[in-house]
Amino acid sequence: MQKPYVIDEMISAKSIAARLEELCREIHDEFQGTDKLVVVGLLRGSFVFIADLVRELDLPIEVDFLEASSYGDGMESSREVRILKDLRGAIEGRDVLVVEDIVDTGHTLHHVTGLLKSREPARLKTIALLDKPSRREVDMKADWTGFEIPDEFVVGYGIDFAQRNRNLPYIGKVRFT
Ligand code: 5GP
Ligand code: MG
Repeated sequence: MQKPYVIDEMISAKSIAARLEELCREIHDEFQGTDKLVVVGLLRGSFVFIADLVRELDLPIEVDFLEASSYGDGMESSREVRILKDLRGAIEGRDVLVVEDIVDTGHTLHHVTGLLKSREPARLKTIALLDKPSRREVDMKADWTGFEIPDEFVVGYGIDFAQRNRNLPYIGKVRFT
């Protein structure tokens, strides 16, 4: 049985939208003129973020998804990263933007970017909505970060706790009651 908890709002839907606009201006500058950009969402936590992100991008893009093993239903990172679902398309010679929900220990993004680089894309960039720098175990930083946050377990805007709360429009932190 799940212990009872409440969710305290940490980042409002409005703040997320405003930050996303800023980030997309920078992403435009980076990828201006390309006609071979693939935006790769890391399932499942990035599905809301990638949906808002691509609609803010006025560039010709394709969308693909990759799923790496994650927390399962717990609150602790597994460290050993496995690919559960690979990309559908080839990325050799393409421009790639990897979209992640949270960089925590850094293992997931480190592993995924290593794998994708081995496929020789023309350019590989990363964006993470959230970053918990105090939790880092490997040297990894996304090229763009939405918000740096403290070491709190967060949910909402696509991010779950035991598969719940992904549909919250804001980012909140879990507090057990
Ligand atoms: P890392 O490999 O960097 O430790 O972990 C990254 C993954 O852990 C993220 O993609 C995310 O799925 C998960 N994660 C990290 N922090 C949180 C959190 O506060 N809440 C939830 N639901 N997942 C998290
Ligand atoms: Mg994730």
